[in-house]
Amino acid sequence: MKIKLTNIRRKSKKLIILIPVFLLCILIFSCLNLKKKDKEVIVLDNFSYISKTIIGSDEIPLHGLIFKEKDGIGKDAIEEALNLINEYLGNGCATVDENGKVLLSLTEKEVKRLPRKQRVFYRVINEVVASSKETIISISKDSEFVVVGSAFYNEIDISDVNHFGTGKICNKFSVFAHEIKEQQLLQRGKDKNPHLAGILVEEEMLGYTRSYFDSSDLKKVRFDDVSKKWICTGFIYSFFEKGSRKIELSVRIDTNNIVGKPKKKNIR
Ligand SMILES: [Zn+2]
Repeated sequence: MKIKLTNIRRKSKKLIILIPVFLLCILIFSCLNLKKKDKEVIVLDNFSYISKTIIGSDEIPLHGLIFKEKDGIGKDAIEEALNLINEYLGNGCATVDENGKVLLSLTEKEVKRLPRKQRVFYRVINEVVASSKETIISISKDSEFVVVGSAFYNEIDISDVNHFGTGKICNKFSVFAHEIKEQQLLQRGKDKNPHLAGILVEEEMLGYTRSYFDSSDLKKVRFDDVSKKWICTGFIYSFFEKGSRKIELSVRIDTNNIVGKPKKKNIR
């Protein structure tokens, strides 16, 4: 009887050890299975995305920000636009895929670490990049038909943008963000004043309000039959205000292309 009792005790001791080990095994097994399922889902998603973009690129609308090549110099111009974004946000975060779709690869942490002005710039560009609707912009260089940006041609002349340099009142980054915002709203067709939205982006970035625009020193050179607009040479003056300060920025134009750096003059 004694022997039997010790046998039962031994058996129950074994059971006490074995049951938790068994349960642990079940837990590990189910975790591994879950991981496997996760992987399968990701693979399927990637595959369906790739097949959509390759096979059905005509049927499935592109979304986000698309840079289009223009007149054989498109690749260079697109490269310059990406360089501008990367110069401001760093880490070579902006690239384009084979469809010209702009990709921004900053993590949330990296965005949080950006200085305030750069964060506003990032937000404006990323709103277009991450949008479910597409904004298609032709990027050109030294275009005779476009001064900085054109609503008619859906175009940004990146050489004109780059002439604004890195100043504090108005610079190539604020001008670029203005144009991207304006093109996005223009192409959506709902906003009544896309240009004003662009001005507000500049103001949020650099703190200066662009108050008005004087083009009385601009002379007509010839007429563009397509856009029904004049190609001009001369000066345009923009005025920026911050508190009691007022600054004039004069930009020299030669047949719709900006020449040299814009000149600053304190008005008050
Ligand atoms: Zn504008």
